[in-house]
Amino acid sequence: MTVAELAHVFEDWAPKWSAWERDNVGIQMGDLGKSVRTILLTLDMTESVAQEAVARKVDLIVSHHPLLYRPLATVTAQEPTGRIVLALAKKEIAVYSAHTNLDFTTEGVSFTLARVLDLQHIRFLAPLRSTLAKIVVFVPEPHVERVTAAMAAAGAGIIGEYSSCSFQSLGTGTFLGSDRTHPFVGKPGTLEQADEIRLEMAVPRAKTEYVVRAMKSVHPYEEVAYDIYHLENENPNFGMGALGDLPRPTSLKSFLALTSKRLHAPSLRYAGSLNKKIQRVALCGGSGSDLLAAARNQGADVLLTADVRYHTFHEADEQIALIDAGHWETEYPVLETIAARLRGYATLRREPLTVLFSKTNTNPVRSFCFDGRR
Ligand SMILES: [Zn+2]
Repeated sequence: MTVAELAHVFEDWAPKWSAWERDNVGIQMGDLGKSVRTILLTLDMTESVAQEAVARKVDLIVSHHPLLYRPLATVTAQEPTGRIVLALAKKEIAVYSAHTNLDFTTEGVSFTLARVLDLQHIRFLAPLRSTLAKIVVFVPEPHVERVTAAMAAAGAGIIGEYSSCSFQSLGTGTFLGSDRTHPFVGKPGTLEQADEIRLEMAVPRAKTEYVVRAMKSVHPYEEVAYDIYHLENENPNFGMGALGDLPRPTSLKSFLALTSKRLHAPSLRYAGSLNKKIQRVALCGGSGSDLLAAARNQGADVLLTADVRYHTFHEADEQIALIDAGHWETEYPVLETIAARLRGYATLRREPLTVLFSKTNTNPVRSFCFDGRR
């Protein structure tokens, strides 16, 4: 399979439109038509990772943090990003990055973290808002099934775990065609009435044009009447952080021990009483301290995230405990999810694909204990 096909697989799961506006996700460099047999997974694109990719003869690197974040004015061997680009270009190694789009999708960074900690009833902590539209189209009854199917296939009608969601109501459409028209029903110059179905389907805003094109391609009318509404609703399919429940309540002390063990996090910073009862857990892989209020509003007993500032620890109180388990530690588990997805896709396609995990430890943060154990 090619770099472009793999990008498509990724973006079906974590669409680019769902990423932060200023993020730079997707293909970072490489030939889209290049065939891929070996992929290297990493959180970060460092020079060591680039050297490893060359040594292990991979075709594509998939990184979480983008290789190119700010526009590059120059590509030279005199600075690190330039050296990475030059080394990879020489060996025709492509780079694909899935960053905030992977944070905001189901089974992405935070859902994976929730699964690692055995949480149940996993859902988004703060679903994205204002990312949905509704398309309303008026269709003659015998054609409604075909139009609905075409819109669904293009990505309309997905609400949580449900697909092909639509609402249909019967009404009467009227129209008067000029003498230059070729109406599907009736004659030009005559006021016509037709039984029509008002078909409504929700769609991600970014897919509106694509769905409208799919709808028009099977709609029988010469001039299709349709409306597009922007919705302010929460989008149940995309959001920030995750919320879930432990199978049974435990103490903050036991939850810290579980977190440390499962995330291989040698030291955890936290605020809260060690005896505090923990059952509902809010979490966000990477920098998620902005979600403290959302976590509290959702009744979480603890927020587990990274990059927590001193004053944010102060904001945690008796109602909610706060844990900083490290940026790298809270994001690393998603690489397993990526590997499983890519391997599953290759198996489905019956194509050979080797997915490797980078052996380079890209975490620049080390822990120091005075007794010298680390
Ligand atoms: Zn990150």
